[in-house]
Amino acid sequence: MTETLHIVGGGMAGSEAAWQAANMGVRVVIHEMRPKVGTFAHQTGDLAEMVCSNSFRSDDDEQNAVGLLHWEMRAAGGLIMEMAETHRLPAGGALAVDREAFSQGVTARLSDHPNVSIEKGEVTALPDDGRWIFATGPLTSQGLGAAIAAETGTDRLAFFDAIAPIVYHDTIDMSQAWMQSRYDKGATEEERTAYLNCPMTKDQYEAFIDALLAADKTEFHEGETATYFDGCLPIEVMAERGRETLRHGPMKPVGLTNPHQPDVKPWAVVQLRRDNALGTLYNIVGFQTKMKYGAQTDVFKMIPGLENASFARLGGIHRNTFLNSPTLLDDQMRLRGKPHIRFAGQITGVEGYVESAAMGLLAGRLAASEILGRPLPAPPQDTAMGALIHHITGGAEAKTFQPMNVNFGLFRPVDGLKGGRRGRRDRYKAYTDRAKAAWTGWLAETEVDAAETV
Ligand SMILES: Cc1cc2nc3c(=O)[nH]c(=O)nc-3n(C[C@H](O)[C@H](O)[C@H](O)COP(=O)(O)OP(=O)(O)OC[C@H]3O[C@@H](n4cnc5c(N)ncnc54)[C@H](O)[C@@H]3O)c2cc1C
Repeated sequence: MTETLHIVGGGMAGSEAAWQAANMGVRVVIHEMRPKVGTFAHQTGDLAEMVCSNSFRSDDDEQNAVGLLHWEMRAAGGLIMEMAETHRLPAGGALAVDREAFSQGVTARLSDHPNVSIEKGEVTALPDDGRWIFATGPLTSQGLGAAIAAETGTDRLAFFDAIAPIVYHDTIDMSQAWMQSRYDKGATEEERTAYLNCPMTKDQYEAFIDALLAADKTEFHEGETATYFDGCLPIEVMAERGRETLRHGPMKPVGLTNPHQPDVKPWAVVQLRRDNALGTLYNIVGFQTKMKYGAQTDVFKMIPGLENASFARLGGIHRNTFLNSPTLLDDQMRLRGKPHIRFAGQITGVEGYVESAAMGLLAGRLAASEILGRPLPAPPQDTAMGALIHHITGGAEAKTFQPMNVNFGLFRPVDGLKGGRRGRRDRYKAYTDRAKAAWTGWLAETEVDAAETV
């Protein structure tokens, strides 16, 4: 009899992790606190409840990174994708579902599985032994959150995200922007040129402030406390405090010289900082925001140099419990200090139903194969799964780590292909072809291993 795998949280990630491990022959116990203990967003006691939208986003596996994740999960026999397909609703190119039928379907399949049992109740501690996956999501219960913070250190577990928009570097107009750190600070040339700067004239700044003040914003939920925002104000709130506030805050123009117009002092400067080791993504520094998505793209495209920018993700501020995964987790999603504990889903710093389920799929397979005595290598970086896990456990900047959606900016470039908008279709097709081949190879290798072991 093999060791039991305990999975805490029966959401998107926990359900998929349980399905994968159980199908590999491992006994699984899912510990789910609902309906005994609820959250502000969940409505039922079902597994894999969709807390907001009923969409798994684009299903295009050739031109879209989320669609590619769908493809990879389907190739691995994923339960979330199977149930989504079964309960699919017409939604153009998106994979939308009948949410109730979907989560009831996931619950039924797991309840009926001979290797799975479900225990209702909250887990409030990190155990000292056994094999565990914690997939308790963005709304992890308070008691467990405190236990995790005690283990990791309070500065390594966030209870809110404050996401600044992230831009694809190759869509920034470098004939207007330039690379320079304030006052050329830094010991190396790389550090002295660490920031990408977009200058504004007085008129551009005034128009930008007007647009910020007028933009549609999302309201805060109950529990999103004011104290949190003291150190991390949304830019539109800063603008409301005074038209000059941003010019003395994240947009201050000091210590910078525009090489395109060295004699003209910018009135304000928007700075972007590298967001991944590949240098394909840049975040707009200090630009966390509660503006609605449509308003964000309109307002941010007013920034000189970003007129044609494409956004890998837009900004936001939400209740969201997540780890500083680049410092805490290894490439197998294990807690470095306690490797018998894995984390999966949104708590690892991915964002979205699909990404969370995908990280559950991986964690389930990795944990099960370890129990079966045949540990697996981490998935190849060129797959969507691999690109995501590589980002959260190593590729992302640890100091500014914020949750991430899957996107092509996380992928290594394919040699010999054109950059920019023109080459996009060919580039995306090359990424997805390469990913599918690599994922098929990894699955074949790992499934043979599991079959030999059982
Ligand atoms: C309000 C809100 C709206 C969102 N809207 C969307 C959206 O529209 N689209 C999208 O793609 N993503 C959305 N997300 C983001 C996120 O992708 C989803 O929350 C997703 O469900 C995360 O999957 P998960 O498995 O990590 O967590 P969850 O699906 O939340 O699952 C975690 C599970 O753990 C349980 N749990 C928590 N603590 C404990 C404990 N101590 N003991 C036992 N069980 C516990 C919870 O009850 C829950 O069932 C939203 C998030 C929030 C908070």
